[in-house]
Amino acid sequence: MITVPGPAQPAAAGDRAAAAPAVRVEGLRKRYGDVTALAGVDLAVQAGEFFTLLGPSGSGKTTLLRLIAGFERPDGGRIELGGRDVTRVPPYARDVNTVFQDYALFPHMTVAQNIEYGLRVRHVPKAQRRERVSRALDMVRLPRLGSRKPAQLSGGQRQRVALARAIVNEPQVLLLDEPLGALDLKLRQEMQLELLRVQREVGITFVYVTHDQEEALTMSDRIAVLNQGNIEQIGAPVVVYEHPETAFVAGFIGVSNLIERDGHRITVRPEKITLLEGFEPDPPGTHVESGRVQDVIYAGVLTRYVVDLDGGGQLVVSRQNTEAPAFRHTTREGEAGTAREDRAPAAREDRAPAAREDRAPAARDLRASIGRGDRVRIAWRTEQAFTIPHEPSQDPNSGEGYR
Ligand code: ADP
Ligand code: MG
Repeated sequence: MITVPGPAQPAAAGDRAAAAPAVRVEGLRKRYGDVTALAGVDLAVQAGEFFTLLGPSGSGKTTLLRLIAGFERPDGGRIELGGRDVTRVPPYARDVNTVFQDYALFPHMTVAQNIEYGLRVRHVPKAQRRERVSRALDMVRLPRLGSRKPAQLSGGQRQRVALARAIVNEPQVLLLDEPLGALDLKLRQEMQLELLRVQREVGITFVYVTHDQEEALTMSDRIAVLNQGNIEQIGAPVVVYEHPETAFVAGFIGVSNLIERDGHRITVRPEKITLLEGFEPDPPGTHVESGRVQDVIYAGVLTRYVVDLDGGGQLVVSRQNTEAPAFRHTTREGEAGTAREDRAPAAREDRAPAAREDRAPAARDLRASIGRGDRVRIAWRTEQAFTIPHEPSQDPNSGEGYR
């Protein structure tokens, strides 16, 4: 039987602490033949939380979700939902619903019938079904599309129906496996905000899977970063981004920016590093290093400078493009634009380090005129750099390019 939570009740911090976690997982292990999909995972998701499992493909995210849903049996460990041990409870008797990337709508049923399906199975009376379906359609902003078939909807609309079909059951926990993965970027960003709004309104606990770090940072109350079946770190977006605890987290969320100094591995985020102009004095309280610009990557909002440091290693420095660069452009009438010799910075799709060599001459930051091969000094406030303990995990960004 489905428990019906009150609508939108973002529990106060005190209430939450007192309640059992919506999901608790302890020592969860799962192997497929030789592959260890989960190597002993512990986590607790609080009621009402938007909790994200973030990790590269193959890190075990779907496996963890399927174990929580009950579609798979663990090799070891324990799963609790709302304080109740469900490790051996079949999926239909767990108070969770899952939204998959491929929507899995019934093509022969209308939108309303698709949404109603779970309620029918549970023998919810007809009048109540109508009312709940209509509320769910409003919630996902599809109020007039109940009589359409899935094939008559856009990808974004189908995703909304899939969401409505899950929330109409009012589960305690909603599991979402890369639900926006099939949508193009713009629609995905729109749907991210929609999903967040729905989650806040219905107050259901969301366990959300994605491999997209920006999506995770945008949407989550907390993020668990997975790597090869292990959780590397759990924390609020600002914590995992600003204080990565492992090299893997530093590299997977953002640019890894790791250097070794005096036997310590240090990480500092690209936007925390300043490029010093010519003879500008060292700003007080900063650590300053010198080096040579190995590459300049224009990315619209910002420009990234890859700097080879004289002290060893390489750091990426990013700088906001706050001023419009002056560059030669030709208007429709064929007039020359602002007269500057420098070439217009070109956005780059492929940023694999190996491929960079055969590109056109380095894009130049036209404001500061810093280009490839230039000598520079870079500085960061000492409190902005973090020491990362040596650990066996891999740096995911090796060979993956910059974000
Ligand atoms: P993710 O969702 O993070 O991409 P998965 O949980 O799907 O990762 O997979 C984790 C690992 O387990 C991968 O190496 C994958 O190939 C393996 N795996 C997942 N499901 C199966 C299965 N049914 N049979 C064999 N191997 C599987
Ligand atoms: Mg997956």
